[in-house]
Amino acid sequence: MDSKAVRQKFLNFFINKEHQIVDSAPLVNKNDPTLMFTNAGMNQFKDFFLGNEKSKYPRIADTQKCLRVSGKHNDLEEVGLDTYHHTMFEMLGNWSFGDYFKKEAIEWAWELLTEEYKLPKDRLYVTVFEGDKDDNLGLDQEAYDYWKAIIPEDRILYGSKKDNFWEMGDQGPCGPCSEIHIDLRSEDEIKAKPGKELVNNDHPQVVEIWNLVFMEFNRKASGELVSLPAKHVDTGMGFERLCMAIQNKKSNYDTDVFVPLINYLADKAGVKYGSNEQIDIALRVISDHVRAITFAVADGQLPSNTGAGYVIRRILRRAVRYGFTFLNFKDPIIFELVDILDQQMGDVFNEVRAQKDFIKKVIEQEEASFLKTLDNGLKRIESIKSSISDKVIDGKTAFELYDTFGFPLDLTSLIARENGLSVDEKGFQEEMAKQKERSKADAVKETGDWTVLDKVEKVEFLGYDSLATQAKVIQYRTVKQKGNEVYQLVLDKTPFYAESGGQVGDNGYLESENERLKVLDTKKENDLIIHIVEKLPTQVDAEYTAIVNKSKRVDTMSNHTATHLLHHALREVLGTHVEQKGSLVNEKELRFDFSHFQKMSEEEITKVEQMVNQMIRENLALEEARNTPISEAKEMGAMALFGEKYGDFVRVIKFGESVELCGGTHVKATGNIGFFKIISESSIAAGVRRIEAITGKRAEDYVTEQVELINEVKNILKAPKDVKASIKQLVEEKSQLEKEIQKLHASKAGDLKKELLSSKKEENGLVKIISKVDLPSSDALKQISFELKNELSNLFLVLAANIDGKPQISVVIGDELIKDKNLNAGTIVRELAQEIKGGGGGQPFYATAGGKDLSGLDRVVEKALKMV
Ligand code: ATP
Ligand code: MG
Repeated sequence: MDSKAVRQKFLNFFINKEHQIVDSAPLVNKNDPTLMFTNAGMNQFKDFFLGNEKSKYPRIADTQKCLRVSGKHNDLEEVGLDTYHHTMFEMLGNWSFGDYFKKEAIEWAWELLTEEYKLPKDRLYVTVFEGDKDDNLGLDQEAYDYWKAIIPEDRILYGSKKDNFWEMGDQGPCGPCSEIHIDLRSEDEIKAKPGKELVNNDHPQVVEIWNLVFMEFNRKASGELVSLPAKHVDTGMGFERLCMAIQNKKSNYDTDVFVPLINYLADKAGVKYGSNEQIDIALRVISDHVRAITFAVADGQLPSNTGAGYVIRRILRRAVRYGFTFLNFKDPIIFELVDILDQQMGDVFNEVRAQKDFIKKVIEQEEASFLKTLDNGLKRIESIKSSISDKVIDGKTAFELYDTFGFPLDLTSLIARENGLSVDEKGFQEEMAKQKERSKADAVKETGDWTVLDKVEKVEFLGYDSLATQAKVIQYRTVKQKGNEVYQLVLDKTPFYAESGGQVGDNGYLESENERLKVLDTKKENDLIIHIVEKLPTQVDAEYTAIVNKSKRVDTMSNHTATHLLHHALREVLGTHVEQKGSLVNEKELRFDFSHFQKMSEEEITKVEQMVNQMIRENLALEEARNTPISEAKEMGAMALFGEKYGDFVRVIKFGESVELCGGTHVKATGNIGFFKIISESSIAAGVRRIEAITGKRAEDYVTEQVELINEVKNILKAPKDVKASIKQLVEEKSQLEKEIQKLHASKAGDLKKELLSSKKEENGLVKIISKVDLPSSDALKQISFELKNELSNLFLVLAANIDGKPQISVVIGDELIKDKNLNAGTIVRELAQEIKGGGGGQPFYATAGGKDLSGLDRVVEKALKMV
């Protein structure tokens, strides 16, 4: 069965068990500060488990893109070294939200594996949670009994909290789990050692394939477990491992998910997979990592220097390093694999197919730039090599290579060894530890538990229609970071817009009878709207009026609407390949990033500006459709952005021909924007351009300033009619004058040369020219020295030059004199330079010196005359 069929069979099986199939959530998390990347199928359902929200469907199944490279679940260092952990993998899952529980979850899992996929029963083992004293939990007897009805008891194993109690993070929903493991070893190996002894023991052929989690608890910040309002099922099966089991392979990389990638790379490198361990690891690392990078970029996460972007950059660099070191890949190549991924997965994950060219471009550029860094690093090692005496690269230097060039210790050691050097590894580790301490101190964040006063079905956001409302605090907490305390409140309803979709959060006030509390910012955590306040209210249960800062909000709305108009105009002017790659909208400006492969021309920028301003003058009215089914919204022409998570119902914002899915706040009609002006267009990454623009009063001020500037220039030029022509004339005149000056200098130099030639004296076989001269530049001094050298043999030339008030000496010694008389221009110039309080040097036939004391030039001449 090929991998496509394996995936489809899973989904079909659960469709037959009345499950709703949903799309994978994006790989990169935008609205959950506790989680950078999706690391399990259940992430997108977190609020269902916690009871914050109710699922529309009691049963769901899907395949979810997961990435385990940071936080609680981080497999990065294993990937490639072992054969069954990936950075990005697909997790097949089925869920019950307060519907079926342990019995069905266990029975269906068994049915699917053994009857549909026909995995051999005698190679499967299951585990159940044995209980935990600290959490005051006993054996999961219920799960044990359901298994006992299906499988011989000696195949049911007990697992500890580490393996059989699943937690998403330090806080959040959790519960006991029951795992299914498979033994893929040969008959002989099984005879020699029963599989039972290898379960949960890191054996590459005795691996966990499916985890059935029974969500019953919520772990609080204090560590305490509290029961969830309802019981749920959350299962996760590694798709690539399942393919290995079904295709009866010994490694995930031997399945059709990876073979095409590995073959392509092996072919390019001229190696064979399976012949050398180091090379195999490199092939596995690259074919794994390209998937993570491709899917992250497809979901809108570009490699960058901070946050999630930095994690992606590091993964890519890890792949490049392995290719560079073990496969001799010196040019970008990883990007070529995107074509294979498109063939394999483009049907299921449209985000890759639709953006293939863009993704390739981003990866290629990133590869090229890191290869250059690697090259610079190698040069740095060369220079280190020549500067150290004891053949040991010290820890600090090795760490610098790691930190600035991305050279990990093993790579530095390898290159060092090849160069006959060694590395102070202990010193490196010390530097590394120091840095970890530094960043740990920065990152420590203590999030307190919510104090819940009241619960509401769903917090109402009223900010589309009003800027003030009566409200009650329903929960609050304190968050400590970098020694600061931040206070957060949730209201039962609010006019405050929480930062999202590029638009900044509102600020303003909460007012009660005896208190006025500043709201500094508003943020989102999943669906919670969190008000960040200067301090906790003295009386939390008071009645408040929540009041949004109007002027900030109004300016922000203008900029947000202008962003939509800009997006529309860009697609009209540049083409429909333009897709939003990021945006920032605040009260001052708007910033819009979009895919486009070259710099915009002046004409294109002007055209876009004109189009937006035209739409502003047309005063197009806002047409807003809240709670529209997503399919209807798409029919209206609204474009869904890749990497955004949309619900079944969305909000559509329409101004004339501009139609977008958007949760932001907008002006009632485009005329309110007043005026739109682009102030910059630049590149921020391969294939991504950025426009910065302003609107309204700010745009007007900007234009006024520009006009004033031109008026000032006119004044300086004595108010000509045609400023352009007179500046052009000035520039032309200037270059004319420069040419004339050059000619003058040349003729002056010609005169000087004649003078010097006629001053030459012949003594003891030396042709001496020693003189004080005035010259415009060091170049002129050099030129005249060489011209004299070419014309005269046996030359002994010393010129003491005044160059723009600075003393300089030039010495030329004829080649004959170097040989016969053992004279050296370098030695002579150094001796003479003492007179001008300076120094210099050069070659035996030509040397120069500069100094500080102009008055010493005469002494230079005197000294030179006495020299030979
Ligand atoms: P392991 O102990 O093997 O790392 P896990 O306990 O971390 O697995 P879960 O968090 O229970 O795994 O995830 C559910 C399933 O997802 C696992 O049974 C496995 O099949 C798969 N899986 C987990 N991590 C990875 C990974 N890094 N690469 C590929 N598949 C994975
Ligand atoms: Mg794991």
